Amino acid sequence: MDYHQIPAMFLADAPGLDFLNSIATPVDVPVDWIGDGEGLLAWLEQAGMVPPEAIASIRARATPAELDEVAEKARSLREWFRGYVQKRKGRALAAKDARELEPLNQLLARDEQHGEIVANTHDEAMAFSFRLQRRWPSAESLLMPIAEALARVVCEEDFTHVKACEGPACTLLFADHTRGHARRWCSMAVCGNRAKVAAHRARQKEAKHG
Ligand SMILES: [Zn+2]
Repeated sequence: MDYHQIPAMFLADAPGLDFLNSIATPVDVPVDWIGDGEGLLAWLEQAGMVPPEAIASIRARATPAELDEVAEKARSLREWFRGYVQKRKGRALAAKDARELEPLNQLLARDEQHGEIVANTHDEAMAFSFRLQRRWPSAESLLMPIAEALARVVCEEDFTHVKACEGPACTLLFADHTRGHARRWCSMAVCGNRAKVAAHRARQKEAKHG
């Protein structure tokens, strides 16, 4: 199905896991929001990972074929990282889990970030803030905020609470930040309700036959 018709989903509570969820089956047909270059630009903008002016400048400088190529790299990065997360979710990461992250470290080494002093606009205690900015020298640099988001998943999330939605046909992953860590669904509105309806039907059936 055409991703243009459906807004991308941001319900993972961790941007790197939202990136894994950029392919999903929100109704009954799979949607890949980063299936081509334009899709990747739109997803990154919706995710707030690339500022609109950087999107516009990359779009002006790169050919559609170049952007499609970057989207292809993003998809293979996504599927590689999905394998990493699927294998380890539900338990805490250990030092030995670092070895397989080497491809991600190699990508991160190509990032071009620099600090910048910016004036605070509101009445804050300090007049200035120190912010990290990123240079966007090529279409490939679109992979950098993604690499950062994936790195933050392994550095900042407790993998004990990284979960897959319990919806039988659902592929969505999320970080359960709820108190008590009882989150089971990508969203109550989608899989949560489906499960409630199924449980209700099962109870009705049982009552009839019981
Ligand atoms: Zn779900």
